Amino acid sequence: MAERYDAIVIGTGQSGPSLAARLSEEGLKTAVIERKLFGGTCVNVGCTPTKALVASARATYMARRGSDFGVVIDGSINIDMKQVKARKDAVVRLSTEGVETWLKHTPNLTVFEGHARFESTRRVRVNDESLEADKIFINTGARARIPDMPGLKEASYLTNSSMMEVDFLPEHLIIVGGSYIGLEFAQMYRRFGSRVTVVEMKDRLIARDDEDVSATVKQILENEGIEIRLKAECVTVEQSGNGVAINVECESGAPRIEGSHLLMAVGRTPNTHDLGLDRAGVETDPRGYIVVDDQLRSNIPGIWAVGDANGRGAFTHTSYNDFEIVVANLFDNDPRRVTDRILTYALYIDPPLGRAGMTEREVRDCGRKALIGKRMMNHVSRARERGETQGFMKILIDAQTSKILGAAILGIGGDEVIHSVLDVMYADAPYTIIQRAVHIHPTVTELIPTMLGDLRPLE
Ligand SMILES: Cc1cc2nc3c(=O)[nH]c(=O)nc-3n(C[C@H](O)[C@H](O)[C@H](O)COP(=O)(O)OP(=O)(O)OC[C@H]3O[C@@H](n4cnc5c(N)ncnc54)[C@H](O)[C@@H]3O)c2cc1C
Repeated sequence: MAERYDAIVIGTGQSGPSLAARLSEEGLKTAVIERKLFGGTCVNVGCTPTKALVASARATYMARRGSDFGVVIDGSINIDMKQVKARKDAVVRLSTEGVETWLKHTPNLTVFEGHARFESTRRVRVNDESLEADKIFINTGARARIPDMPGLKEASYLTNSSMMEVDFLPEHLIIVGGSYIGLEFAQMYRRFGSRVTVVEMKDRLIARDDEDVSATVKQILENEGIEIRLKAECVTVEQSGNGVAINVECESGAPRIEGSHLLMAVGRTPNTHDLGLDRAGVETDPRGYIVVDDQLRSNIPGIWAVGDANGRGAFTHTSYNDFEIVVANLFDNDPRRVTDRILTYALYIDPPLGRAGMTEREVRDCGRKALIGKRMMNHVSRARERGETQGFMKILIDAQTSKILGAAILGIGGDEVIHSVLDVMYADAPYTIIQRAVHIHPTVTELIPTMLGDLRPLE
C-alpha cells in the first residue's frame, strides 16, 4: 500500500525546498525526499563553498599585494589550508542546516531521507516506503560529468564535490576544463600557492563568451602564473609516482603533463539516470535532461522538472526562478514562463565577469543592426583608485529599438554592476534610461552611462 500525499518533491536543490514549503502552505499534504545533502549542489559543493574559498584566496592575494598600497607586512604570508577549509565548512553549515531545519519544521510537510525512484507515473519509492501523489516535482540537479577516458577510473582524480574535502595544498593541480568551474578553482589554488595548469581542448577559455572576454580572462589568469594549455585535449590519464599524468593531443606544447593532483571540470550531467523515469514514462533528451514546456511541465501530466535536471538553466538563480514559475502558474493565476527569463550569470574569478543577454558574437550572427559601447577598466577611476584595472565593460544595443541586447562587465565589481543593465533589460526600456541616470561617484556603475554616451555602429 502506498502512502497518499497531494504532492511529492524529489531533491532539495534550489527549487525543491521553496516549492515544498509553498505546496504545504497551500494546504497540500506534501512529501519532500532528499538522498544526501540538504540544499543540494549550490550550498554544499557549488556556489557557497567555492565563493567562500574565493574569498580566502582573495585575502591572500591582497595580503601579497600589500606593498602596492603602502601596507608593510613584516614576515611571510602563509596559508593554513585546514583553516581555509574550516571557514568554508562553517559558511556551508549555516546554509545547509538552515534548509534542513526549515523543511523539518514546516507544517504539513514530511521529510524523507533516501533515494527516490519512480514506480509509476504517480508512485515513488523511497527506502522501504511507497508514496503516491497526483503532483510530483523533480529537482534532482546535476553532477560532475566524468568522461569515459582510458586510465581515468584507475587514477585518482578530484571533482567539484571531492575538492570540498581538500585541506592541504596540492603541489601541482592539473585542471581539465577551461570553463567556469575549472577557472574558479584554478585562480583560487594558484593564489593559495599551488602550481596550476588548465587544460582546455577548445581554442579559448569560456568559449560561450566573446573572444575578447576569453582573451582577457586568459591574460588575467596568466598574469598570476597559471599555465593555460589551449587546443589540448586530454586523452588518457595515468598514475605517475605519487601523482598523476595526463596525455594530451595538441598542436604545440608538451604532450604529457605531470602533476600532483587532477581536477576534472568538463561539464555537468543531470541526475536523471537513476530515477526510474522510464517507469513513469517521463521523456528525456539525448543528454538525459528532462524535456519540459515553458511552464516546466514534463510530457506526463502531473510531473514537473525544475532546476538543472531540465536543462533550461544551470544556475542557482535559474533553479529558484523555476520554483517561482511553477507556483505562479499553479497558485497565483500568473502565467510566468521560462522564456521570460534573460540569460545572466557570473564567472567568479577575480576580477569577476558579469554577463547579461546576448554576446557580441550572437548579435553579429543574427544580423541585427546594432550599436556597441566599450570601456576599458583602466579608464574607470574607481578601478584605478582600488588598484584593480584589469578588464573592460561592453554593451550592445539594438539600433532600431534602442533596447539593450546584451552586456559583459569583466572587472572589479562586474558581478554586481551588471544588474544595473539587467534591470533595464527586464523593464524593456531603452538604453537612454541608464544613459540619463545620475549614478554615484566614484563607482564602476557610474561609467555605464558614459559608455552608453559613446556608442558606435557594430561593423
Ligand atoms: C563548483 C560549482 C560552482 C557553482 N557556482 C555557481 C554560482 O556561483 N552561481 C550559480 O548560480 N550557480 C553555480 N553553480 C550551479 C548551481 O550549483 C546549480 O545550478 C544549482 O545548485 C541548482 O541546482 P538544482 O536546484 O537543480 O539542484 P541541486 O542543487 O543539484 O540539488 C539536487 C538535489 O537532489 C538530490 N537528489 C538527486 N537525485 C535524487 C534522488 N533520486 N532522490 C532524492 N534526492 C535526490 C541531490 O542529493 C541534491 O541534494 C555551481 C555549481 C558548481 C558545481
